[in-house]
Amino acid sequence: MLDRPHLYIDGQWLAPQQAGHFEVFDPSDASLLARVAAASAADVDLAVSAARRAFDHGPWPRLSGAKRGAILRRIADGIRANLEDLAVLEVRDNGKPLPEAQWDIADAAGCFDFYADLAERLDGEERPIALADARFRASVVREPVGVAAAVIPWNYPLLMASWKVAPALAAGCCMVLKPSELTPLTALELARITEAAGLPAGVLNVLPGLGGEAGAALVEHPGVDKVAFTGSVPTGSRIMQAAARDVKNISLELGGKSPFIVFADSDIEAAVEWILFGIFWNQGQVCSATSRVLVERALYPALLERLVAETHKIRIGNGLEPGVLLGPLVSAGQHAKVSAAIAQGIADGARLLCGGQRPADLPEGWFLQPTVFADVPLDSDLWREEIFGPVVCVNPFDDEAEALRLANDSAFGLAAAVMSADLERCERVARKLQAGIVWINCSQPTFSELPWGGVKRSGIGRELGEWGLDNYLETKQITRYESAEPWGWYIK
Ligand code: NAD
Repeated sequence: MLDRPHLYIDGQWLAPQQAGHFEVFDPSDASLLARVAAASAADVDLAVSAARRAFDHGPWPRLSGAKRGAILRRIADGIRANLEDLAVLEVRDNGKPLPEAQWDIADAAGCFDFYADLAERLDGEERPIALADARFRASVVREPVGVAAAVIPWNYPLLMASWKVAPALAAGCCMVLKPSELTPLTALELARITEAAGLPAGVLNVLPGLGGEAGAALVEHPGVDKVAFTGSVPTGSRIMQAAARDVKNISLELGGKSPFIVFADSDIEAAVEWILFGIFWNQGQVCSATSRVLVERALYPALLERLVAETHKIRIGNGLEPGVLLGPLVSAGQHAKVSAAIAQGIADGARLLCGGQRPADLPEGWFLQPTVFADVPLDSDLWREEIFGPVVCVNPFDDEAEALRLANDSAFGLAAAVMSADLERCERVARKLQAGIVWINCSQPTFSELPWGGVKRSGIGRELGEWGLDNYLETKQITRYESAEPWGWYIK
């Protein structure tokens, strides 16, 4: 059992002020994996004060972008140097297959490198703006927002932390990170890596803790200028309300129920591969999972047959075993939630083609078979609500207009995918899909260079790319009156 009795505040490893901890379990066998210090409101106050001091009086926001970038690169190197250990820790904490954890950790390092480049580009960015009125000279500068709070989920623990920490640090912000209480372990390792990389004390504070306590206290804290949240819609909505009181700057990356339109001229093998990946990687616990598949009627029967045959071949087991493609769900609660959604889908008349059960040979841990439904009622929760598990719904469509209507008939709008041999059609459909991310002839590939985020109930704002940096910068105009002439309102 791992013991993590400390919080990381102001560059020090401190015991919580009100002795408290929570337990973290290995999802592959439900055994106790770690005992972790739980932050209370008093610890949040300490951490926000440390970040505030670091921002108001410390060197970090005043360093050149190049100097901040150099430290971000050292953090990237530190993550890479510990890649194998971090990946194994992520598997034990989250359950995902080891190769996926290795991708995540490598991507996390890449994210720090990417924002190191953008930090360097902030130097000398000040831009003169030509005004129609020549009596004035103006320029626009960008400055860090201040103290940022990051609250993140459990599905990509280190990667979700990096998507927030890297741009916030690049911008010159100081911050408090609260990882999910289900998967806090790699965020604590990130704190160690930033410390070794020479990040000044107080710039990054890491507070494991419960959502309703540490999370709520953090987003409500008056010393926080910006809240960056990734998680569920109900929590996002609560955070938006909490942030409203002080009119805090917020960005929200929330859930999804993303469609994948497959036209009949698609290569069936490629379609099945991307459908499988789009819903079953990370056990389907992916905000952008393409969980609603729409297949043109001429291909529907053949595609369903192939999809079910390939789904049966997916190897389920402990994520550390070679060849495993599907690990356990993250927690008992998530297992119960997804199982209940499957039972409700069957009761609502959806046709279960395969899966839906705990595998007979895996009685321990939170395993669930990959599950395929067809002919799913359009008004059912199975079709409309995010399940966040290895469950795909497949329905037929007759023409492009119907495919678009069905795809866009959703409260969510995070991602969407379209597949066809006709690239002109793909581009046309991509522009009509109501989503922040559209994939053509694939599903899920994600790049640090590109904006990430959704429309409708999927959130507000964009992470990653240059847009991710904007989340942590304020834009300021500086306007100078240069004319020797009086202004003429009072002195004529
Ligand atoms: P969650 O909303 O339950 O928890 C997310 C985080 O919020 C956790 O750290 C939790 O402790 C904290 N929290 C809970 N209550 C809080 C409160 N009252 N105040 C402040 N913080 C609080 O979500 P989850 O179950 O951890 O993650 C799954 C959800 O995240 C899914 O809906 C998924 O779609 C979404 N997600 C979205 C993206 C994206 O980029 N759009 C990425 C990953 C996950």
